[in-house]
Amino acid sequence: MALNLIMLGAPGAGKGTQADRIARERGIPKISTGDILREAVAANSEIGQRVKVTMNRGQLVGDDTMIAIVRDRLDRDDARRGFVLDGFPRTVAQAVALDDMMVGRDPLVIVDLAVGESDLVHRLLNRLVCESCGTNALGKDLANGLQESCRRCGGRLVQRSDDNKAVVLERLQIYLRQTKPLVAFYRRRPTFRAIDGAQPPDRVAEDLVAAIDSAVKSAAPSPGARS
Ligand code: AMP
Repeated sequence: MALNLIMLGAPGAGKGTQADRIARERGIPKISTGDILREAVAANSEIGQRVKVTMNRGQLVGDDTMIAIVRDRLDRDDARRGFVLDGFPRTVAQAVALDDMMVGRDPLVIVDLAVGESDLVHRLLNRLVCESCGTNALGKDLANGLQESCRRCGGRLVQRSDDNKAVVLERLQIYLRQTKPLVAFYRRRPTFRAIDGAQPPDRVAEDLVAAIDSAVKSAAPSPGARS
């Protein structure tokens, strides 16, 4: 069965870090809608110009734009063998559209990374990311001394423009209002699992692998799934 994984969780819950790991281990693409949009902004493309202000305010880009981006990306050949979605869906409308895209594919595995609010604020305000490859680095004050360059590619570490206090608080409010309802949307599916994202990253990674294995065992492959 193809692993069609979505990672739910608030900004700063560790979705990106864990999604990277699983995608590398399983040899499937990690699809981060935040990364796709940041690349569009950096390239100053038509979409990038349209979404820049919304992103800098910490607000959500419109559902139609996001659904079209993900539909195109999932249509590419490499996503037929499975994928890890990071940052999508973020609204119930996006989740409904994703179910529609999954017709004829193996069922979604949904993992919610749960982290308390004060931890999230701390992590986001201290987070650094690589400006070349987007990899998250250890927090400014959590690293053993200040980590100066990206462990993966050697790129320069910078703070994301939306990781400042006012915008972080706005993003968390938006998460509670628009994205957290997805837990109720998915909770009754046999392939939904919640894990404790407040643990150290290696423990979260272990729990994530166990959650995926158990969810896959509970999944009934869709008839006609192309995997
Ligand atoms: P992220 O890197 O996932 O925190 O996303 C950064 C920003 O990109 C968000 O604060 C939103 O402005 C935008 N964004 C990313 N994914 C989505 C989505 N699925 N729906 C709406 N906006 C999104």
